[in-house]
Amino acid sequence: MATDYYSVLGIDKNASQEDIKRAYKKLAKQYHPDLNKDAGATEKFKQISEAAAVLGDPEKRKNYDQFGKADAPNFSGFDFRDFQGQGGFTFDDIFDNLFGGFGFRRGSRGKAGRDLAAEIEITLEEVAHGTVKNIPLSRHVRCTECDGKGGTNFAVCSTCQGQGAVRTAKRTPFGVFASTTTCNSCHGSGEKAENTCKTCDGDGRLVSREPLSVKIPPGIEDGMKLRLAGEGEAGTGDAPDGDFYVLVRIEPDDRFIRDGPDLIVEKPISFVTAALGGDISVESLHGTKKVDIPSGTQNNETIRLDGEGLPHLRGKGKGDLLIKVTIDVPKKISKKQAELLREFEKETKKKWGLF
Ligand SMILES: [Zn+2]
Ligand SMILES: [Zn+2]
Repeated sequence: MATDYYSVLGIDKNASQEDIKRAYKKLAKQYHPDLNKDAGATEKFKQISEAAAVLGDPEKRKNYDQFGKADAPNFSGFDFRDFQGQGGFTFDDIFDNLFGGFGFRRGSRGKAGRDLAAEIEITLEEVAHGTVKNIPLSRHVRCTECDGKGGTNFAVCSTCQGQGAVRTAKRTPFGVFASTTTCNSCHGSGEKAENTCKTCDGDGRLVSREPLSVKIPPGIEDGMKLRLAGEGEAGTGDAPDGDFYVLVRIEPDDRFIRDGPDLIVEKPISFVTAALGGDISVESLHGTKKVDIPSGTQNNETIRLDGEGLPHLRGKGKGDLLIKVTIDVPKKISKKQAELLREFEKETKKKWGLF
């Protein structure tokens, strides 16, 4: 007599797909041979996996309910391959394989495109104004000739009987269990075009070496990631395209220290300018600025130039340029300068009544 998959999973005949998943996950954890060394655990795990593979797929479940067995046509192609290497197999792999790679995915008609990523480096000037970068790239794009479908006049794929996946069973160090792989013949769509697209040879995709143009918004910060939806590898059929991620790096700049939207620059001035006040020139991102130093400026005082910083990434306005003033004490002075300074000192002492 055939195994009762419902009782294997401990669920009733009206169990939802969620119930099945939950039951499988719970039992698989309990009997996974990596976790349970009891005699019979492996056998039990095998049964659980098999039951979940059948009941987890609405089509197979229907057949099972009706005929008391999972549909024979698709199960005829059992492929007992040796599974090499114990290390690479995790519980999640098995779970994803059963619930992701098989039944539930059916109907998505195609293979989702991979995400792609690149790193770019931009200058502070580019942060200030925003920029457009062209990233050299080779990726799959949808074939425009067939709109990514691979052809016209679709019929059920004979290799997988329209399942989009072929069922295999793997021999692992802890027993044999069922697994599925995407059908090579239809690339998982379950359908095959009778008129194959000649441009893409039925794949629905073409290799493009067009660089990808990426718009970098002003005010971006080092380490931020931009996501370009659908700009990754193209999917096939109705499956979605992958996304493209751009990691933005800001080139180190020896003129400015960045603090969010503010820029900090260190500026040495003479002690005479600090005492008497005067104009100095400061390089900002927008050219050279004349800055007024008030008399009596102290070492490490900060002078703020409003709006001379970087744009705010979100919202309006700009940060400021902060000029941190350091007072330059001369290391070498002439006789005349020394005389004047002594004179200066005398005057100072007089002023404070020290004479
Ligand atoms: Zn197929
Ligand atoms: Zn095509």
